Amino acid sequence: MNNAVLMIYTGGTIGMVQNEQGVLQPFKLDRISDAVPLLKNVSYRIDSCQLSAIIDSSDMCVKVWAEIAQIIEKEYDRYDGFVVLHGTDTMAYTASALSFMLENLGKPVVLTGSQLPLGMLRSDGRGNIVGALEIASAQKTNIPEVSIYFEDKLYRGNRSTKFSAQNFDAFASFNYPPLATAGIDISYNKHLVLYPESTDFKVYKALNENVAVLTLFPGISQKLVNAILDTPDLEGVVISSYGSGNAPTEGWFIDALSKASEKGIVLYDVTQCKSGTVRIGQYATSYDLGRIGVVGGYDITIEAAITKMMFLLGNCSDREQVKQLLKQSLRGEITV
Ligand code: ASP
Repeated sequence: MNNAVLMIYTGGTIGMVQNEQGVLQPFKLDRISDAVPLLKNVSYRIDSCQLSAIIDSSDMCVKVWAEIAQIIEKEYDRYDGFVVLHGTDTMAYTASALSFMLENLGKPVVLTGSQLPLGMLRSDGRGNIVGALEIASAQKTNIPEVSIYFEDKLYRGNRSTKFSAQNFDAFASFNYPPLATAGIDISYNKHLVLYPESTDFKVYKALNENVAVLTLFPGISQKLVNAILDTPDLEGVVISSYGSGNAPTEGWFIDALSKASEKGIVLYDVTQCKSGTVRIGQYATSYDLGRIGVVGGYDITIEAAITKMMFLLGNCSDREQVKQLLKQSLRGEITV
C-alpha cells in the first residue's frame, strides 16, 4: 500500500492572498493544492485538513497547539507522516511545543511554510512543501521527530529559530546540525536523529501559560523586574541572560529573584547568545543565580525554553520535578 501523509494547514504567508488594500491575509487550503499541481503525481497519498480557524502565526496560542496535537493523535495510525503548514513567525515555538507534547513520537511531523505566498511567481513555498512532504512520506528514512523543513534544510524543531525576516533561508539551528539537507538527493544525518524510547505514543495537551520571559539589558529597572516577578499567578520565568548565563550582581536584583524563587516560581537561565551554553557559576555574575535555585538552560533556545516550561508546569506534580526535568534533555532540546 502507498504511504500516506496528512497535511495540516494552519495559515501563514504560504497560503495568503492580498486583499483589496494590498494587505496579506490567510486564505483557504484548496488554493494551496491548486498552486502545486505536480503533487497530484507523487507516489504517496496526500490528504489534507485545516484548523478550525486559519491564522497568521502571530496569533498562535496554546489552544491552537492543543488542536494540532489532537489532530495528530486522532490520525496517528492512519498516516505515515504529517506536514504542518504554518506561518514562519512563530513556527519555532510551535515546533518546540509540539516536540514536548508528542511523547515517543514514531513518525515525522514536519513543519514548513514560506516567506512569499504560494501564489507568487518567486514563492519559496513550492520547494518547501514538496521537500517537507517527501521527508514526511519517506518510510525507509523515517525521521520520527517534530522538525522544520525550510530552504533545503531539515532542522530539529526545538533547536530552530527564525533569524531572518527577509531571506528564504529564514531558519537556523545554531546549536545542533541539520537532520537532513536537500540537494539533488535528500541526504539524511541519521546519527543525529532521536528515536523514541518506546512505542507508547502519548499526547499531552495541557500547557501552563503562567510563564514569562525576563529579558535582561544594561539599565533594566527594578520597577520592571518587580512588575514581571509580581505578575499574579506567575509560575515560571525564563531569564534571558547574557553570555554563559550571566546577570547583574546588584543586591535588589538578586533579592527580587530570590523572593520569587522562595514563592515557588521556577527560574530558568537561558542565554541571549545564539550559540553556546549556560554555565552557572563560571563567573561571579551567575554564581548567585545558582545559589538561589535558578536552573541553567544549557544551550536551549528561548522558544524551546518557554514551551518546555509551559509543558512541565502543565504536567508535573511538583516544582522540584519541574526543576529536575528542565535540566534534562527530554526531546533533544539541550546538550547536557
Ligand atoms: N506573519 C506570517 C506568519 O507567521 C509570516 C509568515 O508566514 O512567513 O503567519
